[in-house]
Amino acid sequence: MKQKVTLIPGDGVGPEVAKAAQDCIDALGVDIDWEIALAGEPALKEKGSLLPRETLESIKRNKVALKGPITTPVGKGFRSINVALRQELDLFACVRPSYYIEGTNSKYPGTNLLIVRENSEDLYTGVEFQEGEPATEDLITRINNISEKKVRPGSAISIKPFSQFACDRITRYAFELAKKENRKKVTCVHKANIMKFTDGLFLRTFQEVASLYPDIESGDVIVDNLSMQLVMRPQAFDVLVLPNLYGDIISDLCAGLIGGLGIAAGANMGTETALFEPVHGSAPKYAGKNKVNPTATILSAGLMLKHLGLTKKAEILEKAVLAVIKKGKSVTYDLKPDRNDPTAVGTKEMTQAIIKEIKAKSR
Ligand code: NAD
Repeated sequence: MKQKVTLIPGDGVGPEVAKAAQDCIDALGVDIDWEIALAGEPALKEKGSLLPRETLESIKRNKVALKGPITTPVGKGFRSINVALRQELDLFACVRPSYYIEGTNSKYPGTNLLIVRENSEDLYTGVEFQEGEPATEDLITRINNISEKKVRPGSAISIKPFSQFACDRITRYAFELAKKENRKKVTCVHKANIMKFTDGLFLRTFQEVASLYPDIESGDVIVDNLSMQLVMRPQAFDVLVLPNLYGDIISDLCAGLIGGLGIAAGANMGTETALFEPVHGSAPKYAGKNKVNPTATILSAGLMLKHLGLTKKAEILEKAVLAVIKKGKSVTYDLKPDRNDPTAVGTKEMTQAIIKEIKAKSR
């Protein structure tokens, strides 16, 4: 039976990279019935909403989606359509593999990290209070009445909630994934020395869960120390489990370790639903210019194939991408040693080179 998958092209460079991934999957001969659903700029134009209900319904129905990046409108409406999608669909785990690919500009050949970011809580819940509002001043007065530490009147406030439920769910997910992927160590990333209750709960829950997995090594590290250690010796780490905000930042840092956002793939996983997307954003300055690297979205599609149980196809896809990058000829500007290299190709040409490799490897 044909597998139905929701395809959200997104906006900015989204439609170009989503099309690249779709073409690669078609070249693999995977029988997917793509259900196109809009979000972001095109959805606002056509449906009058940045995140139409039918897009959410399509993902809920198909349970699997591939998505291009979406611009976050500054100052109005959704804080972020991407965050809204993750929250609406309870995609609680953001999984981002970061591994060395030969032919990239990465200076860290030993890197092979698996980032597991909590996606549902932390400062991203959007519970915020604007400075100067009566409700904010009221909140500050209440806080100052019950807390020894005082908040300065006139402050803006963002709330950072961590629940035992979410901490337990994400750390169990990280250990189960480590087991499935034959990983040796899971490291909890936190700032529990300062945030004793929120990050403290994350760390304590991690330690409880870790005790249930005696075959997997476990450890913890403070996020600032991790940042330094990652740029010194990323090979010292294996699976990292992080709260939402640190996960967001460290994901980009790890994308930098492996050669840039153009090759960093990701998956947002829930209990029922999975949504695959590149780590990068909509790169508006390159929209419609046939410029950006399609690899991150193509590798995200590879993660989707693996999720669908199409492991062999996922392997062919990954090998095809790696072969093109290793050859270094038909690659976009970001993968050339000099970003202004006139021999760099566009999104379409790099995709065609990958498709050629897919066909050769599928014979
Ligand atoms: P961005 O990732 O869009 O781009 C930053 C820079 O990274 C680009 O200017 C480009 O130099 C490089 N880059 C990104 N993707 C690339 C690719 N595929 N190939 C080569 N180079 C690439 O980040 P930004 O400029 O901070 O964000 C732009 C918009 O995207 C914002 O509205 C932001 O909120 C949104 N965003 C969306 C998502 C998502 O949809 N999941 C993720 C991050 C940011």
